[in-house]
Amino acid sequence: MSGKFEGGCLCGEVRYSCSEQPMSQFICHCTECQKITGSPVSPGFMVNKSDVKVTGNYSEHKIAAASGREMLRKFCSICGSRVFEESLGMADIYMFNAGSLDDQSVFEPEVHYWVNSLPSWYKITDSLPQYDKQPDVE
Ligand SMILES: [Zn+2]
Ligand SMILES: [Zn+2]
Repeated sequence: MSGKFEGGCLCGEVRYSCSEQPMSQFICHCTECQKITGSPVSPGFMVNKSDVKVTGNYSEHKIAAASGREMLRKFCSICGSRVFEESLGMADIYMFNAGSLDDQSVFEPEVHYWVNSLPSWYKITDSLPQYDKQPDVE
């Protein structure tokens, strides 16, 4: 993922554009993402808040993560898509749902997180590094 990229929610109300490369690109398998997305696979990326511009109306839901840290998850007010979120312990960073990217081909996952939470019917078939946790958030 290089240079500028853009994305948004399903209906187009919430839009974002980012001017810099993400700090990390990952695939999360944690139980929270499973509940929120309905899927054992939740691709995402981290960006500096100062590198991204978000427009449109979204609602924020504050939910404590398993780590105890509070997460502010941001959903489109019209269509309900979860577009991005922030951890209240990481003031400078947004995490975006990679499914929101306009061009899915720009996403380049580097790592799998929370692989112990995967259901037995899902198997990882790539050779990316796998972690039981998300070290850069803990
Ligand atoms: Zn929407
Ligand atoms: Zn997760």
